[in-house]
Amino acid sequence: MVATAPAAAAAAPPKRQFVPQDLDAADWSKIEPVGKKLLDRPINSVTDLEKWLLDVSELAAVIDEYGSRRYIDKSCHTEDKAIEQRFLHYVENIEPKFKTLTFELQKKYLASPHRSQLTDARYRILDRQWQADVDIFREENVPLETDVTKLVTDYDKVCGAMIVSFRGKDYTMQQMARFTEEPDRTTRQEAWEASTRRRLQDRAKIEDLFDKILPLRERIARNAGFVNYREYTWKALKRFDYTPDDCIRFADSIEKTVVPLVNELDRQRASDLKLERLRPWDLSVDPKNRPPLRPFNDADIDGFVNKTWSIFNKLSPQLAADFDVLRQRRNLDLGSRKGKQPGGYQSTLNEVREPFIFMNAAGLQRDVETLLHEGGHAFHALAAKDEPLVFLRHAPMEFCEVASMAMELFGSEHLDEFYDEADANRAKRVHFEGIIRFFPWMATIDAFQHWLYTHPAHSRPERTRAWLELMERFGSKLDWSGYEPAREAWWQRQLHLYHVPFYYVEYGIAQLGALQLWMKAKQDPQRALAGYRAGLKLGGTRALPELFTAAGIHFDFSERTLRPLMDAVAEELRQLPS
Ligand SMILES: [Zn+2]
Repeated sequence: MVATAPAAAAAAPPKRQFVPQDLDAADWSKIEPVGKKLLDRPINSVTDLEKWLLDVSELAAVIDEYGSRRYIDKSCHTEDKAIEQRFLHYVENIEPKFKTLTFELQKKYLASPHRSQLTDARYRILDRQWQADVDIFREENVPLETDVTKLVTDYDKVCGAMIVSFRGKDYTMQQMARFTEEPDRTTRQEAWEASTRRRLQDRAKIEDLFDKILPLRERIARNAGFVNYREYTWKALKRFDYTPDDCIRFADSIEKTVVPLVNELDRQRASDLKLERLRPWDLSVDPKNRPPLRPFNDADIDGFVNKTWSIFNKLSPQLAADFDVLRQRRNLDLGSRKGKQPGGYQSTLNEVREPFIFMNAAGLQRDVETLLHEGGHAFHALAAKDEPLVFLRHAPMEFCEVASMAMELFGSEHLDEFYDEADANRAKRVHFEGIIRFFPWMATIDAFQHWLYTHPAHSRPERTRAWLELMERFGSKLDWSGYEPAREAWWQRQLHLYHVPFYYVEYGIAQLGALQLWMKAKQDPQRALAGYRAGLKLGGTRALPELFTAAGIHFDFSERTLRPLMDAVAEELRQLPS
């Protein structure tokens, strides 16, 4: 690593002003009196109210960080019983009680006559959010949500335990992914079959979990007075600035605008591979049959981190300095190993105001994209960390994903850190093809969720039928013959369906924001990056459309915005040497 940027000193965590320094966040009997003090404290002026909010925020940050740390621990060690117990103790005994306490605190805030004297516009955002929380909160839903969390944890466990024996060796699912890029078609097919067989072994188990989760979610919605879980989730996710119909129209535009581009990519791919028809294991291999891109050796995670740092440094020394904070604080767990939860995420430790990145790097180009992506989230957390109230530090997801996806796009201009010119172009091609292919997949998952939660009490065959219809409408025209069960159960791998229902269209909305920034960066990279940072810095203190505006882009996912951006991506692909 070339140390050109000043290493940002990892700042000491802010000292607690109200919460006892030695508070044991695993012990509700210690938290409860702290909460009671807040509930009982008289608020006689706007100054009192401001100070009270800061103290509520501090307690929330302490509890939230404790929960995040338990979750991170669990994702890094899925087989450690003591760690699992500590996480479950938090989920079962702290989080639900804290939710109830938070609800009481929110009500106290909303009832305060001094609230109208809080003139700063960011408080209007807080009003709107807390009002929504209070509107949907029902005491009887707290244990139901705990039940859902436990079922979702079971889903993680089932998936985390999936080990595939392939040609005499054991692999995690993430490690198996690399074989889908092998030029040898038989290897690809056998690897795909081995992974798919392994998933199908647990198909019934995973579907059973879903069948337990769905009615719980429907009950939660009905308890809160909503006609279905979709209406409930809209409010719970605080989607104030767009409607379910907007999402359905978004999917229609994708069908019209993007599906033809995917068909074109598939035709080109089949022709390059000299195949009559593409099979499910033909989508990730290089169409020119070159060996897979290997940006780094999966045993050399430090090298991976250093090269990613250099990309950030080329974009801006400030970004590199931010990334140094993660390294210095050891807030990175990046390598893939057995007993680690699948996937990747960035989590913010809200008290110390530091980001943490988790992923399963296995030496693939996808890993480079993931670290750039999660790095973007981390930059967001650091840019917004000076907002005093934790409740206003986090932007809505639709904008959070602009932070991460724009970073993937900015970074794609500097992939020569990992590759020679030809491979850098190849990697870029993979990325841009991925963007095109993502939109129809996003529409499939989103439309599936609209169907799931507006068809209560549907049967499994009805669910399968609905899924297959969407695969037909938005999916690649692949030849699945002989693998119908795999196709039917393909949705089970999308953990969002289990973890965070309806949270998926955000990626589509955000990608349109990220692509707008990318197009600006082609004209003037420094200006685009300045807009990016200006948007990130606002955290969650503005409404969604205003955050987009601050970043110099439009909040719009109609065909008017989608089409020109897709044209630009298609043009970029045409320009890239293949
Ligand atoms: Zn993300």
